[in-house]
Amino acid sequence: MKLVKDIEKTFKDSEKISEKEAEEAFVKIIKWLGENPKREGLKSTPKRLIKAYREYFKGYSEDPAKILEKTFGDVQGYDDMVIQKNISVQSHCEHHMAPIIGVAHVAYIPNTRVVGLSKLARVVEVFSKRLQTQERLTMQIASTLMTALDAKGVAVSIDATHQCMTTRGIKKEQATTVTNYYLGQFKEDLSYQNRYLRFISK
Ligand SMILES: [Zn+2]
Repeated sequence: MKLVKDIEKTFKDSEKISEKEAEEAFVKIIKWLGENPKREGLKSTPKRLIKAYREYFKGYSEDPAKILEKTFGDVQGYDDMVIQKNISVQSHCEHHMAPIIGVAHVAYIPNTRVVGLSKLARVVEVFSKRLQTQERLTMQIASTLMTALDAKGVAVSIDATHQCMTTRGIKKEQATTVTNYYLGQFKEDLSYQNRYLRFISK
């Protein structure tokens, strides 16, 4: 079952490049800056960058649906929203590959099953560790939770700073971007939406 359209993985296997080729590309970028990639301080930089990029983008090798596979049916009649606030978000924008730093708030209304609380943050983590737009990140988290948990509703908000606009370009250091995405009961019933917004603004 495809939970969200996997637009990130539309390249062909034949177009894949090796780690060595990626490392050589970093050497080229260093040269293009006018630097000497062989000098002491820079000679291991391409290797370090590979390691760092593996970490920044580790979400490509993880399947968010798998994280949510294990749910618990023992909800004992709990039928109100479960909210997890202030989940840290460290992502990269797909336009500049610059950091997006902020927090996510995630809520769902269980139907018959609940999920381990750490799993909500894990889903945020997996989608964050990819090249993203904040809008898509917000929607991907929400639709994955909605489908995998068969929830009655899901709400996701992200409040983040985009370094592509704080450290370069328009340089608005204080600007943060807020995105919200509601599904099910949160979309249909404004009283749920308002209660959620009240909880996350506390
Ligand atoms: Zn950007």
